[in-house]
Amino acid sequence: MPRPEFKRILLKLSGEALMGDQQFGIETETAQRVAEEIKLAQAAGYELCVVVGGGNIFRGLAAADQGFDRASADYMGMLATVMNALAVQNALEKLGVDTRVQSAIPMSSICEPYIRRRAMRHMEKGRIVIFAAGTGNPFFTTDTAAALRAAEMQCDALFKGTSVDGVYTADPKKDAAAERYDTLSFDRVLSDNLKVMDASAVAVCRDNDIPIVVFNIREQGNLARVLNGEGTSTIVEN
Ligand code: UDP
Repeated sequence: MPRPEFKRILLKLSGEALMGDQQFGIETETAQRVAEEIKLAQAAGYELCVVVGGGNIFRGLAAADQGFDRASADYMGMLATVMNALAVQNALEKLGVDTRVQSAIPMSSICEPYIRRRAMRHMEKGRIVIFAAGTGNPFFTTDTAAALRAAEMQCDALFKGTSVDGVYTADPKKDAAAERYDTLSFDRVLSDNLKVMDASAVAVCRDNDIPIVVFNIREQGNLARVLNGEGTSTIVEN
């Protein structure tokens, strides 16, 4: 269904979205394809900012399970998101798209620190702002960072790019009878523990009335299609 009110959006890219068919890391072609999605959406008149994950490189929780100190492991995870942010920036700039990376953990030789008002200004100038280092705090995830930045940047919606075209009653890759929800309420997602985003991210979106749109980022041109109300997705809202 067309959602013309979604003008400014935050795109959440998990680290896996940059991995392609690899088991680990960044696949250049995949990063380039994701950048093309962003460029197309921008060309269609939407304002975008991006939060990148780091799970393709390092996950704090997984490392903690193997004996790492959790907080240190989480900082390593946040550093991984900075690598991904630079990869997305690079891919976008190859396409001639103006970008800025802002990190929640200041790294002044590499990128800007996160400054909300400056990020707003970049967006007003038509730049794609890529937010790195999650929230800057251990024990959080980049899903929560995405919800937080979406609220701070006054985004109309949070678009979560995944490898399926929405939220299903069961895993569509394993169960042929699984059906896709067109819409879901935040409360239902939380009470049924549906795997959309972390509960804390869902709660931030619910409390700030920011719909979450789950869509397939792997299909070419799909971000712009879903924004134009032509592609399939699941919308979670109040
Ligand atoms: N992380 C963190 N605080 C944050 C965001 C991320 O500590 O605010 C760490 C955490 O260890 C996480 C890793 O960074 O496992 C990578 O982020 P995430 O797992 O959210 O990436 P994604 O699953 O989206 O690729």
